[in-house]
Amino acid sequence: MTDFEIEEHEYDVLVIGAGGAGLRAAIESMALGCKTAVVCKSLFGKAHTVMAEGGMAAAMGNVYSEDNWKVHFRDTMRGGKMLNNWRMAQIHAEEAPDRVLELEEYGALFDRTEDGLILQRDFGGHKYARLAHVGDSTGLEMIRTEQQKAASLGVKVFAECTINRLILDKETNSISGAIGYWREKGNLILFKAKAIILATGGLGKMYAITSNSWEGTGDGHAMAMMAGAEMVDMEFVQFHPTGMVWPPSVKGILVTEGVRGDGGTLRNSTEERFMFNYIPEMFAAETASSEEEADAWYDDHSLGRRTPDLLPRDEVARAINSEVKAGRGSPHGGVFLDIASRRSAEYIQKRLPSMYHQFMQLAGVDITSEPMEVGPTCHYAMGGIKVNAETEASSVDGLFAAGEVAGGLHGANRLGGNSLSDLVVFGRRAGKGAAEYAKQKDNFSAIDKEFIDTTITNMMKPFENEGGDNPYAIHKELQDSMQSLAGIIRTEDELIQMLNKIDELREKMKTVTVDGNRWFNPGWHLALDLEFMLTNAECLVRAAIERKESRGGHTRDDYPQTSPELSKVNFILKQVDGKTQVESRPLEEMPEELKQLFEDD
Ligand SMILES: Cc1cc2nc3c(=O)[nH]c(=O)nc-3n(C[C@H](O)[C@H](O)[C@H](O)COP(=O)(O)OP(=O)(O)OC[C@H]3O[C@@H](n4cnc5c(N)ncnc54)[C@H](O)[C@@H]3O)c2cc1C
Repeated sequence: MTDFEIEEHEYDVLVIGAGGAGLRAAIESMALGCKTAVVCKSLFGKAHTVMAEGGMAAAMGNVYSEDNWKVHFRDTMRGGKMLNNWRMAQIHAEEAPDRVLELEEYGALFDRTEDGLILQRDFGGHKYARLAHVGDSTGLEMIRTEQQKAASLGVKVFAECTINRLILDKETNSISGAIGYWREKGNLILFKAKAIILATGGLGKMYAITSNSWEGTGDGHAMAMMAGAEMVDMEFVQFHPTGMVWPPSVKGILVTEGVRGDGGTLRNSTEERFMFNYIPEMFAAETASSEEEADAWYDDHSLGRRTPDLLPRDEVARAINSEVKAGRGSPHGGVFLDIASRRSAEYIQKRLPSMYHQFMQLAGVDITSEPMEVGPTCHYAMGGIKVNAETEASSVDGLFAAGEVAGGLHGANRLGGNSLSDLVVFGRRAGKGAAEYAKQKDNFSAIDKEFIDTTITNMMKPFENEGGDNPYAIHKELQDSMQSLAGIIRTEDELIQMLNKIDELREKMKTVTVDGNRWFNPGWHLALDLEFMLTNAECLVRAAIERKESRGGHTRDDYPQTSPELSKVNFILKQVDGKTQVESRPLEEMPEELKQLFEDD
């Protein structure tokens, strides 16, 4: 066994990640009587979820009484181009309203209608105004209230602590624990756990332009793969249409869809509202065909069809990309998003306070009097760990997943607002699933000591290497190449180039070198995260090569149409003997009563 000192802990359920999903999972597991801990890379209360702005989608019917779970389910499936796990989409739509009310019970102060109900706003792809929100700081309120609830139940928190590997019992191939390090001093920490829930969020940091926080390095995706878990839909990455494009230091920071939900429109350099030129067949029947009709819809949804500015994100991102390519972009390579000429300054500041400050402080732009410049930014991973829809169990015994790290719910494209509701609906279910699993186990499973030794040796290698590349240089190469070779528009040639690039970067990783020691060493942390990013990049690219069609967040220049054959399959990825294998698997058949909801399509 290693000479390094290792701090050890035992928990029935270990939750990795303290975002909206991890906290909700921990609350459930603790409430069901399991000794539960949460580990997170950042300070407690600072997970990526705090950045969520626009709101959480739930068919509460507070603004439009016509809304119900069936309409939400249909919107989610159509937004995901029908590749979603239909059962997850059904559970999500059915349970989201209860989870919003539960957050209110925890103390969340949602915005209100005049009648005192929870207010709901419009977002892309949702037929009715459906997003419960707290101004444009909904994620912050979610974390604040979940955190208080978790603390009140006695959930133990290990903050600024990074897990590096999941540990399996060699005999049974089931989860027995996890090993990681304290970020501050690099001291090692080992958790024995009967069940583990991964709630580690997204993987956007492998791209150069992204809205993701520094934590979005896809650790959970990669650790699950390394432990043998099946992944689904990894080719589908959402490029949100509206990120800031200028100044360079803030490129990629998100501009919430709430701007368009509250009346903002997209214009090109000729001031044309170009989205009217990009209405796809699938959404034509319910999308306005003139500016007058679109504007009337904002005032009263019964007066017309919805504005094309609020088509699903994949459609809008592609349209912006085409306008810029055609030379009709804004001065800094995006398009214009204008709310100033359409709403009063008072309305904008009340409904979109964070956007107002973001542009004023970061770009010197007053959005109440001038348009914003926006363009696509890597935002969300639809793909992730394949889970059971009811329990969130992965294909590895004892391993569960919820939130952005899990795949299936969103299919080929996520609708805005469906993530925050996903976190609490499936966070709760994962907490329950893991707690029930842990309760069946009398003892902790065996920790594989040989595996611990190898893990620690690998973790320390960047200090022993000499003369290799530094991790920042390798990260930049990965980000730049993913952006240009596996980004919003893809081709087979470029994807193969990307696979070769990944091999090249893996070679460089063998000698990646960091200065200093384990104390306060972000270079070392990045070197360890890079292994995760490369694992995920390979997984994404291999799936993208196999999906020879354009659908949702995956656009192939060499296969611009959707393929009827590929509309029937998910791609499942798995590591076997360290190699990533891809297999196409038929979608599960939807029951007749749900199929009927799509009869008009
Ligand atoms: C700017 C922005 C605005 C958004 N707005 C909305 C919105 O309005 N509505 C909506 O539905 N969605 C929105 N989204 C998407 C949504 O915020 C995310 O999908 C969601 O918050 C992810 O939550 P999560 O709980 O899965 O993970 P996260 O909130 O990302 O949390 C991950 C947690 O895992 C921890 N972690 C990661 N790796 C490790 C490791 N190796 N060891 C230990 N801990 C680890 C992190 O420290 C963190 O605590 C937005 C996203 C962005 C970027």
